[in-house]
Amino acid sequence: MGANDLQQAITLRRPAKAVATPQGPWSVEAIQALFDKPFMELLFEAQTVHRRHFPEGDIELATLLSVKTGGCPENCGYCPQSAEFDTGVKAQKLMEVDEVVRAAQAAKDAGATRFCMGAAWRAPKDRDVEKVAVLVEAVKGLGLQTCATLGMLEPHHAQQLKAAGLDYYNHNLDTAPEYYTDVVDTRTYQDRLDTLAAVRGAGISVCCGGIVGMGEQPVHRAGLIAQLANMDPYPESVPINSLVRVPGTPLADSEPVDPFDFVRMIAVARITMPTARVRLSAGRQQMGEAVQALCFMAGANSIFYGDKLLVTGNPDVDADVQLLRKLGLRSHRTQEQAEEGGCA
Ligand code: SF4
Repeated sequence: MGANDLQQAITLRRPAKAVATPQGPWSVEAIQALFDKPFMELLFEAQTVHRRHFPEGDIELATLLSVKTGGCPENCGYCPQSAEFDTGVKAQKLMEVDEVVRAAQAAKDAGATRFCMGAAWRAPKDRDVEKVAVLVEAVKGLGLQTCATLGMLEPHHAQQLKAAGLDYYNHNLDTAPEYYTDVVDTRTYQDRLDTLAAVRGAGISVCCGGIVGMGEQPVHRAGLIAQLANMDPYPESVPINSLVRVPGTPLADSEPVDPFDFVRMIAVARITMPTARVRLSAGRQQMGEAVQALCFMAGANSIFYGDKLLVTGNPDVDADVQLLRKLGLRSHRTQEQAEEGGCA
């Protein structure tokens, strides 16, 4: 063996260099550099960060229920619940408490740990918040983590919901500030940030993410991640959605997202927000099992669980249970569930 061969053998046997957890604040350029990495390198880095912060590797199951559907005055270009678009969604008033409790109990029995209630409002009024507070209290009483997504929130409404037992509030930034007006123009990016500040101010955990596949450029995906990752603190839950192209919405004809680009989005979210639950959200039905497995590899550790996402489809519970089983992934259990010793 010559000196060159020996050197090569030593190089090959050297253990892979440890991946350091990169730190924020994040520039859009630094995030773009992550997106530009070779796919396998990015996946390795994301998986390394993921294992460091989630050694258990479990998957959180969150169930989402539309408690007040349709008739929304906003014009989010992806949403079938906007009153501006003809999508066939029938407006329904706020559900009764016992209906919601039945759905929450069923979700818990199926293994969900978090129950998210969505209402298609621009912003809830005082009387709406009062009613939702009753729902929150009832769902919390079942031993589930509670989450709500009700539109823009005033600080005093956030405090009222916190007092009722709300654990999380979902309010997505959707995309980068520069692309936002291409998606919705009935409210501003600053409106979104103000609501998130009200949520934080009330001591409620933040669930905030976005959507890919709305015709945005790669720089907008990096810009969205920069907004999320630079929040202080960054959101505890980060839902990453792949656009479900609903006929009748302005974005119905958008180009489908390349599956590898979607996986990259998950990986970059994981690397830049190491301790967040990164949720594989809308669009799973179109993804297939192999792409979902890659997303878990890239650091996704939460899914929406149940056969409906507000008003669009989602893989059914049996399919999800089978998939987790095939991949040898365990579902997350709260401390309370572990103590109860129930099945997960
Ligand atoms: S995403 Fe929410 S705010 Fe926007 S139109 Fe749909 S229900 Fe209304």
